[in-house]
Amino acid sequence: MTKQIDDWALATLALRVGHDRTPEGEHSEPIFATSSFVFKSAAEAAARFGGDEPGNIYSRFTNPTVQAFEQRLAAMEGGDSCVATASGMSAILAVCMGLLQTGDHIVSSRSIFGTTHVLFNTYLTKFGIETSYVDLTDLAGWEEAIRPETKLLFLETPSNPLTEIADISAIAELAHSRGCLLVVDNCFCTPVLQQPLALGADIVVHSATKYIDGQGRCVGGAVVGDAKLVGEEVFGVLRSTGPTMSPFNAWTFLKGLETLSLRMHKHSENAAQLANWLQNEPLIETVHYPGLVSHPQHQLMLKQQHASGGILSFVVEGGQEAAWKFIDATRMLSITANLGDAKTTITHPATTTHGRLSPEEKAMSGISDGLIRVAVGLEDAADIQADLQRGLDSLVE
Ligand SMILES: *Cc1c(COP(=O)(O)O)cnc(C)c1O
Repeated sequence: MTKQIDDWALATLALRVGHDRTPEGEHSEPIFATSSFVFKSAAEAAARFGGDEPGNIYSRFTNPTVQAFEQRLAAMEGGDSCVATASGMSAILAVCMGLLQTGDHIVSSRSIFGTTHVLFNTYLTKFGIETSYVDLTDLAGWEEAIRPETKLLFLETPSNPLTEIADISAIAELAHSRGCLLVVDNCFCTPVLQQPLALGADIVVHSATKYIDGQGRCVGGAVVGDAKLVGEEVFGVLRSTGPTMSPFNAWTFLKGLETLSLRMHKHSENAAQLANWLQNEPLIETVHYPGLVSHPQHQLMLKQQHASGGILSFVVEGGQEAAWKFIDATRMLSITANLGDAKTTITHPATTTHGRLSPEEKAMSGISDGLIRVAVGLEDAADIQADLQRGLDSLVE
């Protein structure tokens, strides 16, 4: 690993950690497109396989490009170890397979990524692992849901799409007082805006597909934490079950990390400007954005995050018909459920990302028919506003 100067700031870590330059003297990180590695002798091969000597064997286990990404993200999150995965979902799966067994129990916030619900409810249950759901912001609810067999507490903050904020320190303290681990999906903030490990969380998971890539190109994920839980247990799952990150994707994500700090602050700045404008528009009932003083956890966000993030949502008067009309009237924004892209995306959660929920579940999760989510990109904020104005105009036609 590159020599790391102790007090480097995050923006420097994002550029300088992880690349061990080869004798060619390359400036950009090379893509090691190789499935296996060659040994100098039979004895060296035996030593590597026996674990007596460190080094590469096979790219399902380790690959230098992937390791550069892992070391860089670990440094940025402030963790000892990082394991890169083929997707965000395989990061969450690897944590569950590495740390849980039949009979264990998870307490999770209700407002998590839809496929994480499917993983917990459809697949982990097949192996006798149950999940209970609680409100992200209800600390007493978290406490009541913990059972003797609870092993993991799992949350995403800010939540999608209502941008509720969890008190990571308080939930970490609760987890530890009851012998549980806290896992935080840090996809929406990235280490630039929030470092859950420093707030007491044990493990951070990422969908690198989102802001870490930042330009909507590759699918990938990562798990960050200490050397034992992540470096041994989660790594062991990846090594033996195989959802590892490809070297090409790792290279793309390394390039993403280099500009992550600049981008996250610009996403936040653009989103804050739009949220401030939207909250004064008469046809908008509510704006959900943690940067607004009116947001219920605004003070907590200021304490826990370095900026308010790029995701906002709002409710238009007139339910689904009005929301669809609004979305269809935009001309520049991309109608897609992806987020964390440089291009602004707009989506109707009730009929897409949250379409599988029953009417009761939607009501409980605050997914109303007039709700629209915008993942604010890096275009000029005035152009995004002009496009959203087309949506507003369509409601009075
Ligand atoms: C997209 C997403 C995931 C899943 O990541 P994939 O890379 O799509 O597998 C998990 N958590 C959150 C918060 C996400 O937005």
